[in-house]
Amino acid sequence: MINLRLLWTWDHCTQWTAARAGVHDWGASNEFSGYTGDFIREYSLLLRWCGQHGIDGVVVWGLLRDGHGGVEAAKRLCEVADTAGVKLLAGVGLNAYGSVYYEGSSEWSLNNHLSKHPELYALRPDGERHIHQMPGNAPQPMHHACPSRPENMEYCLEGLRWLMETVPLAGVQIETGDTHVCECPLCRERRPNPVSALSWDDMAFLYGPAAEAVWSVRPDATVVMETYSHPEPVTDGTVPGFGGGSPPWAMQCVDQFPRGAYVQWVADNVTAPRNPVPWTTQAPAGFAGNIMRAHLATWWMGRGDEVAVDWLALLAQKSLAQGFDGLSIFGDKSPFRTGCELNYLALADYGSPANPDADLASFLARVAGPLLGGTERATEFLRLARLIAVPDELETAATQARHHAAQLNGRQADRWTWLAWYLSRWTYDAQG
Ligand SMILES: [Zn+2]
Repeated sequence: MINLRLLWTWDHCTQWTAARAGVHDWGASNEFSGYTGDFIREYSLLLRWCGQHGIDGVVVWGLLRDGHGGVEAAKRLCEVADTAGVKLLAGVGLNAYGSVYYEGSSEWSLNNHLSKHPELYALRPDGERHIHQMPGNAPQPMHHACPSRPENMEYCLEGLRWLMETVPLAGVQIETGDTHVCECPLCRERRPNPVSALSWDDMAFLYGPAAEAVWSVRPDATVVMETYSHPEPVTDGTVPGFGGGSPPWAMQCVDQFPRGAYVQWVADNVTAPRNPVPWTTQAPAGFAGNIMRAHLATWWMGRGDEVAVDWLALLAQKSLAQGFDGLSIFGDKSPFRTGCELNYLALADYGSPANPDADLASFLARVAGPLLGGTERATEFLRLARLIAVPDELETAATQARHHAAQLNGRQADRWTWLAWYLSRWTYDAQG
């Protein structure tokens, strides 16, 4: 069974109202362009929908910012989440991504800590401070702390305790950073294994104490530990970065992770639409669970809002076969966008008691059919949506979608209208 279903978001991309200005389509580490009321409204809609439709939790990166109400707004969202029966999890970078307070004057914002203690910065191989400009619509430079410095470890753990004492969260998703790691002499000495843009040794070093700090305040908190990797072994001598496989020392490091937490893996390169490497590895035993997270239906590595229910079925089937029992996809856009709506509903359905084998046909008949005018139409919707990759057939596909819309009413018609619009964007661009 799939036991944990998460939607993953950055605050600046999250738009659950059907129409609002100033929202990013994708990216990381952007400014938040709205007001406190926007932030609370968008996430309240998201959390309530999840509660009504069987999604267990929502991860929020950028949860704490002065620009959208800081602690008070986050507390308000915790109330909404509790009422909805949904876990609200803060995304927390332990050495990067701003730590527990993403942006503002708080002492728990990593940028403020490093500005006060510049000697505690992570270092690049050339000895300069590690301030990284990420590619991919991520304009704010990322400041990194050295994990080997005891002052930083203490700051990190105190920050997590402060977070859990101050904001009644269900838990956290923690990361050590995937935008290159500290290369100072202390870190090099500490790590037995090579690094890429990430370090398995840093994960093993930090995840135990970080989880214990969270549990010291809330023993039942959900803790998700990101690995940035898929579980398939890599034995060609390379040291994979984000989305790559697991080098020979990865599982020794995972063995040091705290057992009460969830391990999160990257599914992008072991499932459709890419799956360039096989997936034969069983999930490591003994943890709260193992979550496969995929960049489906997002402009990261793909197309935003794309209908991905077939790919998600394959991901769920493979996860079930290998003992992975959690799934996570991007959840930043409103189900007004029918691609997102279908993907979220598929996430809720696959591996549930209603669909234990994550069967696509079952989902189309029981869940998508009533939304789209019947099972046959649901199957046709997916076929036409997939033609996005076949330029010669796009125009005909959009015409067929308009035809279905004209025969239906209300939200059923709207969903076909969305498909016609979605497909026609590429036809328009191809003609330009
Ligand atoms: Zn260091």
